[in-house]
Amino acid sequence: MRDLYNFIDSQHVPARSGQWLDDRAPATDAVIARIARSGAEDVNDAVAAAKRAAPAWARTSTAERADLCDAIADVLDKRLDDLADLESRDAGKTITQARTIDIPRAVRNFRFFAGAVRHDETGCHEMSDALNYTLRRPIGVVGLITPWNLPLYLLTWKAAPALATGNTVVCKPSELTPMTASALAEIIREAGAPPGVFNLVHGLGGEAGQALVEHPDVRAISFTGGTATGARVGAAAGSRYKKLSLELGGKNSTLVFADADFEMAVAGAVRAGFTNTGQVCLCGSRVLVERSIAKRFTEAFVARVAALRMGDPSDPTTEVGALISSAHREKVERYVSLARAEGGTIACGGTRPDLGARFANGNFLAPIVVTGLASTARTATEEIFGPVVTVHEFDTDDEAVTMANGVDYGLAASVWTTNLKRAHHVAAALEVGMVWVNDWLKRDLRVPFGGIKASGVGREGGRHSLEFFSELKNVCIAL
Ligand code: NAD
Repeated sequence: MRDLYNFIDSQHVPARSGQWLDDRAPATDAVIARIARSGAEDVNDAVAAAKRAAPAWARTSTAERADLCDAIADVLDKRLDDLADLESRDAGKTITQARTIDIPRAVRNFRFFAGAVRHDETGCHEMSDALNYTLRRPIGVVGLITPWNLPLYLLTWKAAPALATGNTVVCKPSELTPMTASALAEIIREAGAPPGVFNLVHGLGGEAGQALVEHPDVRAISFTGGTATGARVGAAAGSRYKKLSLELGGKNSTLVFADADFEMAVAGAVRAGFTNTGQVCLCGSRVLVERSIAKRFTEAFVARVAALRMGDPSDPTTEVGALISSAHREKVERYVSLARAEGGTIACGGTRPDLGARFANGNFLAPIVVTGLASTARTATEEIFGPVVTVHEFDTDDEAVTMANGVDYGLAASVWTTNLKRAHHVAAALEVGMVWVNDWLKRDLRVPFGGIKASGVGREGGRHSLEFFSELKNVCIAL
């Protein structure tokens, strides 16, 4: 049991109110920590510290900031196993995923943006009688708000470019997974960041998060979370003329054509559907399969999903961990009931597994495949954010694209085909920000990441993150 304080000006401080919130382990429901329940006054303190630190941090050289990011990456890497244990316990995710995806990616985020600012270029535009050159300048104090599904992975995805471009930071991690954010604050201090450059405020979204979005000295908000929350954050930030990046929900299709490599497509659809217990914004939660192979594909898919090993997240052989909270499991269960009411068949899963006394109170739910639903059903179009995949059949490419585009979201899709022409046509026609062909979740950190429609506004990644976390200033000199 630990107490997780706010981190302001490189000091660990409790909330001014003296209040705390419990942090529970999803696999057991045990309280494993309590976090400061911060309010507007704590956010004020953190923003004031960040504002004091901003001018000196903005004057540091690119090389100094890149070196700091590399130093942070070194410490993260050295503590990979500890951090993976923390993340696995706090989020209920499998230790294998935490060790191979979450924490290595946090290391890569800092290394990548160290390199990105070292190699950054801004423009020079020559006129016959003048010369324009463009300067990149930090924004000042930026606010980072992150969800619980990939806690350190997503916080570092924002913190690294924000710091590398010379901003000071106040972050508000999810109240459900605060552990690795507190560890990151320590690591950033250990790596040599001056006081006030990185600050952390724990607490609830409607209290600490909202206060951060509304604070007049916070000039940009990078938010990753749910679409409904994003709308509130957008309204509060937009009316205050803040720079805003919104990475929101998704309801992503996995399109499987008859000419796909069958085994690859089955394995890909399982991975896309159930990685992190289906709690990744990019998860392929609706499989659209060409009718001529639908029966064979669905049988193979269901067999593979039913065989996924669910259990103790700290066991390296476990493939599916717990859902984040009991409330979230109940939400997923309501969708399973809805699927039945909508005429769907539960081909596998949906029950609470018996994993023994130790996990009796854990938020486990056997992975679910639903067949027989219209692709327009609520279960097939609303984001569930859990281990639920619906399967639908199509006859033509156009029909597949229409089904895939028939949702409010527009984040990602994966297309499984060996026909190159089809891959290009379908990828171009899908209304999403990202398409994978014959893969899922392959990430090059230079590429634009983000969605359209209800999946968000703006792009992060590579130069897009550098653009977001900086202001460009053009200087025009008459010759
Ligand atoms: P959430 O919207 O409930 O919370 C996200 C963060 O916002 C948390 O830190 C929360 O405390 C804070 N928050 C809540 N209300 C707030 C308010 N009024 N003002 C400011 N901050 C507030 O989301 P969640 O349940 O933590 O995460 C799951 C959602 O995140 C899913 O919809 C998922 O698709 C989405 N997500 C999107 C991406 C992406 O890159 N597009 C990545 C991961 C998760």
